[in-house]
Amino acid sequence: MRTDYCGALNASFIDQEVTLCGWVDRRRDHGGVIFLDLRDRDGIVQVVFDPDSTNFALADKVRSEYVLKVTGRVRARSEATVNPKMATGEVEVYGTGLEILNTAETPPFQLDSHVSVGEDVRLKYRYVDLRRTEMQHNLRFRSKVTTAIRNYLDLAGFLDIETPILTRATPEGARDYLVPSRTHDGKFFALPQSPQLFKQLLMVSGFDRYYQVAKCFRDEDLRADRQPEFTQIDIETSFMDEAGIMGIAEGMIKELFSTLMDVDLGDFPHMTWQEAMDRYGSDKPDLRIPLELVEIKDLLKDIEFKVFAGPANDPKCRVTALKVTGGAEISRKQIDDYTKFVGIYGAKGLAWIKVNEIEKGVEGLQSPIIKFLGDEVTLKVMERVGAQNGDIVFFGADTTKVVSEALGALRCKVGEDLNLYTCQWAPLWVVDFPMFEETDGGVAALHHPFTAPSCSPEDLVANPASALSRAYDMVLNGTELGGGSVRIHDQSMQQAVFKILGISAEEQREKFGFLLDALKYGAPPHGGLAFGLDRLIMLMTGSSSIRDVIAFPKTQSAACVMTDAPGAVDTKQLRELHIKLREKEKKDEAK
Ligand code: ASP
Repeated sequence: MRTDYCGALNASFIDQEVTLCGWVDRRRDHGGVIFLDLRDRDGIVQVVFDPDSTNFALADKVRSEYVLKVTGRVRARSEATVNPKMATGEVEVYGTGLEILNTAETPPFQLDSHVSVGEDVRLKYRYVDLRRTEMQHNLRFRSKVTTAIRNYLDLAGFLDIETPILTRATPEGARDYLVPSRTHDGKFFALPQSPQLFKQLLMVSGFDRYYQVAKCFRDEDLRADRQPEFTQIDIETSFMDEAGIMGIAEGMIKELFSTLMDVDLGDFPHMTWQEAMDRYGSDKPDLRIPLELVEIKDLLKDIEFKVFAGPANDPKCRVTALKVTGGAEISRKQIDDYTKFVGIYGAKGLAWIKVNEIEKGVEGLQSPIIKFLGDEVTLKVMERVGAQNGDIVFFGADTTKVVSEALGALRCKVGEDLNLYTCQWAPLWVVDFPMFEETDGGVAALHHPFTAPSCSPEDLVANPASALSRAYDMVLNGTELGGGSVRIHDQSMQQAVFKILGISAEEQREKFGFLLDALKYGAPPHGGLAFGLDRLIMLMTGSSSIRDVIAFPKTQSAACVMTDAPGAVDTKQLRELHIKLREKEKKDEAK
């Protein structure tokens, strides 16, 4: 139908006749001359119809988003009308042939005014929203990334193998999406939270290196960077330790950044989970920000002031200072806002000291808390954090969890507000995670229950709380890009972990019998990891929402406003699935 893409035209096409197909981005009538900006996947070019053209009358009828086929001659724009902002801005097409392939109603929003229309409208008319340059760019970039990943992994000997979508629950710490079975009365499939167990079984089968661009489903409360269905680059290998697996994964991410963005990420530093929590209050530290948490527990044990002395003497608590270089300029109003901000993480307040003239001792400091700390302790704290004139020091004293989360988040917020970033990209590996974390009712696996511990089964059973795992997370700019582990390949170790997690022998058999069996039939040592593709693309494209890198995402309430999913189903269908709705019962009774 066409000879070229609109966006491909440039000065080298001058005097050529081209046929283009696309949508009308804009139509302008300038004193009897009609200008059409014609848009396709590759970009926009200006087409001109003057009154001498046979198709002038037809061009006059054209409106925004009409679909056209245009034939014309490419010509240079006059110097005054060259548009350096447009890739095709040196040329225009002098239109001769015109065919309206389809008309369009006035679109629900102007493509360039999407910001003011609200996301629900954009998502309802997603097929129109996706015509925007930014969305076109994001999805094209996404395609380039998956192609590059496939090439990299293919070259490294990985096989692309699909795993089932209708399956049993794989625990990754979220709620399952369930699918009722028609043929098995009262039974349900679960959509995979990840292909975890299948990829491990593929290792038992001897495939050695597996990958998949895999859809995963997790029914969780949604945050800005979460979607109920999302895509993972899922990887598993046999006979390889963590260094080997991390090497392949790091090589892949480095190659993506260098080939697609011309960015050299360098070698990724490794940091233990404990160090990350101590210094940054987070297991995914944003290392672009040079601020660090400093432990001051020992200095505050003997003071009268209970707010600090209490946590300082409690082994479950931490007392920490966060020095912000140049932060003395932060206003009282801003400090109040930060106090509210740390409140989200459970902090009951936010103590601070501004450093005006440190050479004057406490006289040179400004703070409501010095009188409670005492001069000597205050100065010791200032010395510990290396306070300089112009700094502000914030404090956190509470349970370890609250202090780490609150000051860890404050560190990132202040870093962003004061633009303290020291570099554009800061990748790292976080390693040596604890095996388990305490929950309200007991313990849970910090990663998933198939992660190998770095100790023997006996030590694990004796000291589960202090056991470390062979897990690793890749973090970029404070975002977890991916994570994985060396897995348990020994049946008795797997059973020991299940037992610590409070899964009875009966339940183990019922839920994971197939895995325990497979571990008996020659399971090789294996491990792997998975990357969140959507988050990776979001970071690489600099998008602010994960929904901007997914063609048809769900809303914050896990719905699709375009197709109206999830939707009601009729009673016959429900009956076939052996399902009776409780709401319906009530309504029927009311009749
Ligand atoms: N299945 C894990 C996840 O989805 C990744 C892995 O351990 O490979 O987070």
